[in-house]
Amino acid sequence: MIPLVKVSFPPANVLMPKIEEVLYSGQVAEGAFVYDFEKKFVEKYGYGQGLAISSGTAALHMALILAGVEDGDEVISTAMTAEPTNTSITQAGGKIVWADVDSASGNISPESIKENITSKTKAIVVVHYAGYPCRMDEIMKIAKEKNIKVIEDCAHALGAKYGKDFVGLQADFAIFSFQAIKHMTTVDGGFLLFKDNTLLEKAKRVRWFGMLKGVPRTEVDLSVQGYKYNMNNVTAQIGLQQLQHNIDQIIERHISNGLFYDQELSKIKGIDFARCDSQGRSSYWIYTLLTDNSKDLEKLLTENGISASKLHKPNYHHSFFKSSFKLLPQLEKFYDRLLHIPCGWWVTNEDRQRIVDVIKKG
Ligand SMILES: *Cc1c(COP(=O)(O)O)cnc(C)c1O
Repeated sequence: MIPLVKVSFPPANVLMPKIEEVLYSGQVAEGAFVYDFEKKFVEKYGYGQGLAISSGTAALHMALILAGVEDGDEVISTAMTAEPTNTSITQAGGKIVWADVDSASGNISPESIKENITSKTKAIVVVHYAGYPCRMDEIMKIAKEKNIKVIEDCAHALGAKYGKDFVGLQADFAIFSFQAIKHMTTVDGGFLLFKDNTLLEKAKRVRWFGMLKGVPRTEVDLSVQGYKYNMNNVTAQIGLQQLQHNIDQIIERHISNGLFYDQELSKIKGIDFARCDSQGRSSYWIYTLLTDNSKDLEKLLTENGISASKLHKPNYHHSFFKSSFKLLPQLEKFYDRLLHIPCGWWVTNEDRQRIVDVIKKG
């Protein structure tokens, strides 16, 4: 079976001695490796400043806190995502207001964001779903006019670009996830980017129990509600090795396979695929195929040893989100036509050709 997602690490002879070095160094908590990873990550992708975090979900929760979301504030979000995008909003005390998506991409639609803004809207969370960038120019224009903060959930989109920059640079805040099956993994981990550098001290406090590291524990003042959201030296070392060894080739391979499908599937009647605006360049975490016969095609691909699925469930269908439920027509249409197919680094030239041939047969 060709899987839809797969974990990747540098070879054991490269990675294991490096992990061993940290494990027996006597310093395994947040320390030099974490700060080195932070520096290398922001440098590599051209980001200004950022903090390494224990998970993408924790980074989202922090972004919402730093954006000023408090009990009862409205946060506009999308249901077409992994659940942590939205559980972090309720965790911060926010009230979710669902915006509809663009049926061409599955991404939150700027028009629907605009319609859902009220005097209580504190933040907007956008997700570059499956690696395809949202229409950020339009979204940022709307948000700036209304003075509302925007958080980019880039968990699927490491290496995706908007204009000449990588995603994560457009909004006020952005987060990444290094969970097992994302483009890059540190086993578990995350990253928080933010533009306003006056937030740095508060961000560090929120990450570590409300206190500042480096100040003696008998003298430090705990001044804000904080959490245990720091990354540790062991996972940071894995991140450093990932950055150095194979993340570029991995992302390039996802993109190469994605572009191959775009080209080949455009020749097949009844088959379409996700599209971004002219600025967006997907990093194709998973490939988004669109067809009126998604159920039949899913069956056919699975019978041929190719994993294909919708992967997520529109979040508003969960009972936990019952109070904010509303049916969104474009999202339902997108979801009905959606089928994700494998396009990651493990999909070889022969695999991708075979996948296209099976789709053609259907
Ligand atoms: C994986 C994921 C997250 C959460 O990241 P974790 O590191 O698993 O906490 C958030 N949003 C999206 C869209 C994700 O896919």
